[in-house]
Amino acid sequence: MADRHAYARQWKERTGGKVVGYFCTYVPEELIFAAGILPVRILGGHQPSDVTEPYITSRYCPHCRDVLAQGLEGKYDYLDGIVYAHTCVHIGQAFACWERHIAPEYSYFIYMPASVQSLAALPRLSQEMADFRTSLEEWTGKPVSPGHLGQAIQNYNTNRRLLWNLYALRRKEPPLLRGSEALEMVLSGQMMDKEEHNHLLTELLAELPQRPDPPAPGIRLFMGGGENDDVGFLRLTESLGANVVADDHCTGSRYFWNQVPQDDDPLRALARRYLERSPCPQKDWVERRRLPIVHELVRDYSVEAAILTQQKFCDPHEYDIPIIKGLLEDMGIPCLFLEFDVTIPEGQFRTRLEAFLEMFSLDMVR
Ligand code: SF4
Repeated sequence: MADRHAYARQWKERTGGKVVGYFCTYVPEELIFAAGILPVRILGGHQPSDVTEPYITSRYCPHCRDVLAQGLEGKYDYLDGIVYAHTCVHIGQAFACWERHIAPEYSYFIYMPASVQSLAALPRLSQEMADFRTSLEEWTGKPVSPGHLGQAIQNYNTNRRLLWNLYALRRKEPPLLRGSEALEMVLSGQMMDKEEHNHLLTELLAELPQRPDPPAPGIRLFMGGGENDDVGFLRLTESLGANVVADDHCTGSRYFWNQVPQDDDPLRALARRYLERSPCPQKDWVERRRLPIVHELVRDYSVEAAILTQQKFCDPHEYDIPIIKGLLEDMGIPCLFLEFDVTIPEGQFRTRLEAFLEMFSLDMVR
């Protein structure tokens, strides 16, 4: 979303409300929204920068360095606060540096259990949710009423359902939506007021079946791995005769696949959703939930080939990728592995993508 900062500034001016930046999709945005605050995911800018060198070493993943660079360069100067839910040490370091060297008015750390399958995880995270709600109430001076929280949960669940419906349009052949367009829609949802986003998604879902410029048929790709908000990379891939039809990214399906379940206690319901969601490798064994999820996506979206990406030095994804690659190859899905940096080497990636996709045209000739 190119004008993300302008949007947040205008929202702030229009509503007089606070804006909070969050570092990871394990942050329960519903609580922030229920407190009348706009949650905005902090993402990188994909521009070379050396401002992070004094604070974070070059062995941290490029996504974290890019995120911190955005803060140090003042791109998020409209943020009133920041929130982080514990996931990996890399993004934790970016949060800690931001807290110390940019020093926003408010910052909060949520202890997100590392073993989501543990029996202690649900009561522990439910208590974390309660503590976070209290902290937001103290900061804003306003209570987060059960009505506000219930409404926020409903808005977020509606948004998840709409995004799921949008993704379902990619099951068709050819898909009704490009992968780069789907990525932009998920990213805009991570930065916009959810009520407004829901309204736009509803309109779009009504218009898409009649779109005058549908994607042409192409090789149906699955994309999975670490953080990937590089819309330019997807456009490059799609310009070479492929359609990205499904993904397993925190900037894609992992963000919205699971709803907050019905529960008499809304804080426990939120905790259940974040424990049971489509997991990041930092939170669950790949065999337990990620493999079945990838298997289902590949089957339901009629995937023919896969691109697995990883941010350089990302240990959590580095462990999972060989296992996911093994599953895909057992399913007869050829894979291409690419390592991302703050900026991607476009010429080199183009050559590797062309060589990979060429295999399919040779297959068709045979
Ligand atoms: S999980 Fe990987 S990509 Fe995501 S913040 Fe951690 S190191 Fe970076």
